[in-house]
Order: sequence, then structure tokens, then C-alpha cells
Amino acid sequence: MSTNETKEYLASLPELEKDKTYNFKCYPGIACFNACCSDLQMVLTPYDILRLRRAHDTGSVEFLRTHTTMHMSEDTNFPEFHLRMTDNAARSCAFVTENGCSIYENRPGACRMYPLGRATRPDGEGGVIEQFFVVREDHCMGFKEPDEWTGASWIKNQGFDVYTTSNDRYMNILARIKQAGRPVPEKMGHMAILALYKLDEFQRFIEKMQVFSRVEVDEEHQKAILNNEEATLEFAMDWIELMLFHSTPNLKARK
Ligand code: SF4
Ligand code: SF4
Repeated sequence: MSTNETKEYLASLPELEKDKTYNFKCYPGIACFNACCSDLQMVLTPYDILRLRRAHDTGSVEFLRTHTTMHMSEDTNFPEFHLRMTDNAARSCAFVTENGCSIYENRPGACRMYPLGRATRPDGEGGVIEQFFVVREDHCMGFKEPDEWTGASWIKNQGFDVYTTSNDRYMNILARIKQAGRPVPEKMGHMAILALYKLDEFQRFIEKMQVFSRVEVDEEHQKAILNNEEATLEFAMDWIELMLFHSTPNLKARK
């Protein structure tokens, strides 16, 4: 499912209004355990890939080749990565085991949010307005459990709050491209693959191309960008936005 298709799918589901609750619990031992970890068409955000790679301790090129598929989105010409399923009959996720998810601490945002979907739209001030939808699938027994959640309490419980800042920033860049009404040039699509999804390679690119001589970044922040992938990704989004739109609130080109 592409980002656009995901939005349309969510809009077709019942909305969980603010402060309204739903019942849910998922645990090893529930009759349907692992039933939801196969045949998925899951879009991975740049932050999902940062975390998944961390669970694997492998280089980005190797990780992307083994665990993802990629195409360029028609309306933005930006890369869209999906989690690659295995080619067994069930098309299981490569990370599912009989004990559950083998990368639980670093599982993608969509796995954390399930059975909720979260849709966002720009609020016009750099933030987002969020809506929650309940994905109620027949095979999922978790809805029969007594535990009660709001959208906000579920996000916190599942550790999705760490993902929202990066994911929302990324969605705002996509929204800005769509507003501009035309896909980005091919060269920028390739730069997005490097900067947003190959953070280890992007760190080397920054040094080799002396990127810090072209933008205003203080020394301490430069060190963080070259050593901490969370900071690298944040910078990558600023850099991409600056290259595309010649302005971003967080980064200025040197005069
Ligand atoms: S189907 Fe629902 S309850 Fe069963 S394992 Fe998946 S999320 Fe948990
Ligand atoms: S990453 Fe983990 S939680 Fe997500 S589909 Fe795969 S096994 Fe299931």
C-alpha cells in the first residue's frame, strides 16, 4: 500500500474520536498470536529504517537490499520503501518467530500503532493535526480483552511517541512537495534515498562534499550529525527541505 492508499484506507475506517476509548490487548498466548505478522504492505518511514537497522547492526545498503523493496512515488518522485515479506506461502514478516517479534524494541511505527491507524495533516504552522482510526480485523481477538485505551494512551504505551516527531516532519515535507504541484527532479529523488534512508553513507557524503561549509551548523551540532543517526536524520530532512524549497525554519545556507 502506498502512502496515498494508506490515507484512503484509513479514511474508510471508523474514527476513534479524542478521549473516546477502545478495548484491546495483545500478548503471547492469545489464540491469534502472530496472525497479523504476514502478508503486509507496510510503508517504512526514514525513522522506521533507522530503528530497524539499529536492531540489525548492519550497513544501510545491505539492510535495504535484504529487507525492503523500493519504488519512486509517481506524485512526488520521492522514494517509498516497503518492508519485504518472506516468500513462504504465508508471506510472513522476516522478523516474526513463535515467541513473537524478534525486533520488538525496534519494530516499525505501524506495528506499534496496530490496531490503530494514525493519519495526519499539516496544521499550517509546521505541526500536524492527528486523527485515529480503529483497524478492526476479524482474526484479531485482542478487541475482546478488557484493557481500555485512547489514541494518546496507546501511543505512549507502545513507545510510538518517539516516532511521531520524525515521521510528522517527514510527512510535512511530502505535503509541501504535493502542494508545489509537481514531482521533484530525479536528482533530488536520488538525494532523498541517500540522505533519508542511508544515514551511514550520508554521514560520509557530508564529510566528503564538505556540506558544513555550505550551511550554518555549529561545531557541536556538526559532531552530533556525524556520530548520531537521529541527529543525522534530522539534519537530512533540513538539508532536503533547503535544497527543494530554498528555505526551512531550522537551517540556513551560508552567505
Ligand atoms: S491479531 Fe491482534 S491480538 Fe492477535 S497477535 Fe495480532 S495484534 Fe495481537
Ligand atoms: S516487524 Fe515485528 S511486529 Fe512488525 S510485522 Fe514483523 S514481526 Fe510483526
